[in-house]
Amino acid sequence: MKPAPFDYYAPESAAEALDLLARYGADARLLAGGQSLVPLLNFRLSAPAVIVDLNRASDLAYIREERGRLRIGAMTRQRAIEFSPLVRSRLPLLAEATRWVGHLPTRTRGTIGGSLAHSDPAAEYPAVAVALDGEVVIRNPGGERVIRASDFFVGFMSAALGPGEMLIEARLTVPPDSGWAFEEFSRRRGDFAIVGVAAIVTVEGNRCRTARLAVCGAAPSAMRLRGAEEILESERVDDRSVNDAAARAAELVDPGADLHASVDYRRHLTRVLTRRALNRAIERARSREIIDG
Ligand code: FAD
Repeated sequence: MKPAPFDYYAPESAAEALDLLARYGADARLLAGGQSLVPLLNFRLSAPAVIVDLNRASDLAYIREERGRLRIGAMTRQRAIEFSPLVRSRLPLLAEATRWVGHLPTRTRGTIGGSLAHSDPAAEYPAVAVALDGEVVIRNPGGERVIRASDFFVGFMSAALGPGEMLIEARLTVPPDSGWAFEEFSRRRGDFAIVGVAAIVTVEGNRCRTARLAVCGAAPSAMRLRGAEEILESERVDDRSVNDAAARAAELVDPGADLHASVDYRRHLTRVLTRRALNRAIERARSREIIDG
């Protein structure tokens, strides 16, 4: 199949792209890495009158550290994130999760902005952004707004983006001296997750100071598992509390069924992967506690 006819623009900056969005509004669709949009165009599941190609807007591709958080431009390629020393040292959870995003060729084109805006329920980046309680910066011709990641993903394949709006940046911070892990089960490496779990914990001796858990693939969009976090934060950190938290996570999710997995199987995977992610994150937090003394 081929896309329906459209007018094509390739702005050289975010400002130029916004001018085009102001002019064409809901008739325009932003093109980032094209790894999700181009198949939608080819199958005519999306037929915008105008395509605004962001691939020449170099001011949208960056990874910067500022006041202890990373600011990642929307057009930053997944591969750039995967191989970034700054991400590896400041946000190792994001580096670990990126290796689950598609394949190296798709990561070479795919971007963090496209992944967040596309808001696939099985995508890893939305789960990481929700687990880190991150923020996204959205710009429109009238100005800019910053919203929490948990408020950005509003349902199946839908994000809080209005016509004429563009995701500019993701802002992600990791609690200092925390342990982290991303666990996933997919049919083949590189396929979308059947279920994926992001975990970040900080521990003090046998107590869990903070726990953050988020799941992908087991709800209409990336979902924070607060009920499971509370179990960990209220009890000693041991096998029992980890198993209780994992069991609670499996109750909290709202999975659908498809040809890859039943609802029950996704709940089972949520429990298994939550337990694995928590155990690895706790182990990492404890070893940091020893190193940081
Ligand atoms: P595009 O496809 O260009 O755009 C996606 C959507 O976001 C479009 O609606 C577009 O209009 C919108 N958009 C893009 N940028 C912006 C912006 N700045 N502001 C507002 N809206 C914007 N993804 C995973 O998460 N996990 C996987 O395991 C995975 N496996 C894959 C396997 C294959 C074979 C392929 C082809 C893709 C896979 N993907 C996977 C999808 C891939 O990661 C895409 O990169 C991602 O979903 C979209 O990013 P993109 O930059 O390609 O965006």
